[in-house]
Amino acid sequence: MELDAKIPAGPIETLWDNHKFNLKLVNPANKRKYNIIVVGSGLAGGSAAATLGELGYNVQCFCFQDSPRRAHSIAAQGGINAAKNYHGDGDSVYRLFYDTVKGGDFRSREANVYRLAQISVNIIDQCVAQGVPFAREYGGMLDNRSFGGAQVSRTFYARGQTGQQLLLGAYQALERQIGAGQVKMYPRHEMLDLVTIDGKARGIVTRDLITGKIESHVADAVVLGTGGYGNAYYLSTNAKGCNVTANWRAYKKGALFANPCFTQIHPTCIPVTGEYQSKLTLMSESLRNDGRIWVPLKKGDERPPNQIPAAERDYYLERRYPSFGNLVPRDVASRNAKAVCDEGRGVGESGLGVYLDFSEAIQRLGRHVIKERYGNLFDMYERITGENPYDVPMRIYPAIHYTMGGLWVDYNLMSTIPGLYVTGEANFSDHGANRLGASALMQGLADGYFVLPYTIGDYLATSKLPKIDTSHPAFRESETQVACQTKRLLEIKGTRSVDSFHRDLGKLLWEYCGMARTAEGLRDALEKIPALRARFWRDVKVLGTGEELNQSLEKAGRVGDFFELAELMCLDALERNESCGGHFREEYQTPDGEALRNDAEYSYVAAWQYRGEGQPPELHKEPLHFDYVHPSQRSYK
Ligand SMILES: Cc1cc2nc3c(=O)[nH]c(=O)nc-3n(C[C@H](O)[C@H](O)[C@H](O)COP(=O)(O)OP(=O)(O)OC[C@H]3O[C@@H](n4cnc5c(N)ncnc54)[C@H](O)[C@@H]3O)c2cc1C
Repeated sequence: MELDAKIPAGPIETLWDNHKFNLKLVNPANKRKYNIIVVGSGLAGGSAAATLGELGYNVQCFCFQDSPRRAHSIAAQGGINAAKNYHGDGDSVYRLFYDTVKGGDFRSREANVYRLAQISVNIIDQCVAQGVPFAREYGGMLDNRSFGGAQVSRTFYARGQTGQQLLLGAYQALERQIGAGQVKMYPRHEMLDLVTIDGKARGIVTRDLITGKIESHVADAVVLGTGGYGNAYYLSTNAKGCNVTANWRAYKKGALFANPCFTQIHPTCIPVTGEYQSKLTLMSESLRNDGRIWVPLKKGDERPPNQIPAAERDYYLERRYPSFGNLVPRDVASRNAKAVCDEGRGVGESGLGVYLDFSEAIQRLGRHVIKERYGNLFDMYERITGENPYDVPMRIYPAIHYTMGGLWVDYNLMSTIPGLYVTGEANFSDHGANRLGASALMQGLADGYFVLPYTIGDYLATSKLPKIDTSHPAFRESETQVACQTKRLLEIKGTRSVDSFHRDLGKLLWEYCGMARTAEGLRDALEKIPALRARFWRDVKVLGTGEELNQSLEKAGRVGDFFELAELMCLDALERNESCGGHFREEYQTPDGEALRNDAEYSYVAAWQYRGEGQPPELHKEPLHFDYVHPSQRSYK
């Protein structure tokens, strides 16, 4: 299969504008003749559904939560990037583009990233117009703070609740279209299959999570804004419901899955406390603006932090990376935290923790300023740990947070299945091998508000889409398959809970395909995961029935898909014989422990094609070209 990213030709600054002009339009009176399904109501799906409704298309929007407002996007804390240069500190579209390509360790497409940086400025205007209450300075201007991997302040924020405020903006736009009859909302519906007819995406099959009813929905195009798959690891900062099912079922219908091993580990999360913990909590990257990260100089120093004098502390990020200090990108900060803990200098009971200390910032700025900036995060930390971070340093440790991999899409955000579009965290995205902080919200909203609404029109205007309805045999076949899987899960009646299998899978993934990976470990995982998966299908116990709200059944289906995805992640990690961004293969590192890329052999997007049950997937490669930001060893020193 030839992967054509459909990147237009020309100077990078002109690509998107020229492309938009060249795309075919659907005339306003014809838009109402098209049905578009949007799966997902987070920032990527919600913004797309609202905008497509506003344009006049008939939209059906699906989410598995009880309200679109509960999409995981609501959890985003720290902020959203935009190259507005309000601070006059040297920012520009080009600098945001440069930082993002470099931050992604030269494993993303230049053309996409440039477009993202260009659109970033429109997103802020759009959200302000919607009434999103971004933080403002005393004079009334929008305020900015800094995030990792950048030396400018370009992050717009609403205290530690930026995702919530942005989602409320998108949700109001969506509700307006629901009220106007342009969007029909289907909460508590889970997409369990994609239906393709004549090779094109023509609908989905869903299960009503309240009644268990399996239903078909027809469309002229389908959009997946279904989020990331970090929960494959069981413990992650993601909302518990996040899963890969929509993407995975589309993969099995022919959409290629790109870079599945590119997962992001966030350096500042509350450390794991026990075996039965089901969730990890992020402490926003924004805290690194004022918090200083350190560990004791001496191994096994058990004194309380405020009894360790400055001379006996190692501010290891400031020492190793004087230019970026505590604001190095996430992959670098995470690896360094692991390294100091591996040396025996970690803090807390488990030894898997480092300090994030605000004492100096409180002395300099006053407690009230810190409270204003991060009050809700400090409260959350205290509620979870019982420690007051105004008085003692926070303890933090890296955890799974975001997935750069996802379904492969071209410049138009279309997958390898014509008519199937993928937006937000669900696509393999613009972040390469490592995402910079505050850029996921930017990408999700760029995709939904500003890219997809143009590109999908071109597909509709130029494709032959014969009228079909749900009596088509392809829908019947999918419904039967979905019903069989549900029945099969209920009939196993084994001895172990879904969660116990999921926890074991997560441990395997974290150990072998987590912060550090080796060929030997990955080969091991590729034997252990299928064995555990086979046990899952023999011995899982799903209580209840299929005709009622049954969260154990929902989870079982999702965990079944995580098992299959986990294998693909390990295969991808094994195939990529280099280190880049969050993918750290221990065999490939510089003498001072930084990721060592192999541009000659691995400068490509790895896109995997499903070949059928029991068959190995086939790898396709999209070569990456760098005409503007030339690949170099990333340095934040
Ligand atoms: C704790 C935390 C803090 C973060 N903070 C920031 C930040 O400050 N800045 C930043 O840029 N990024 C941040 N991120 C990342 C960012 O929040 C996410 O990448 C982003 O919100 C994903 O948006 P999305 O719309 O793609 O997916 P989601 O918000 O996850 O939405 C997915 C939607 O798809 C639906 N869905 C999924 N599967 C199905 C299915 N099978 N059937 C029906 N519906 C389905 C869900 O119901 C939901 O509506 C943070 C992430 C976490 C975990």
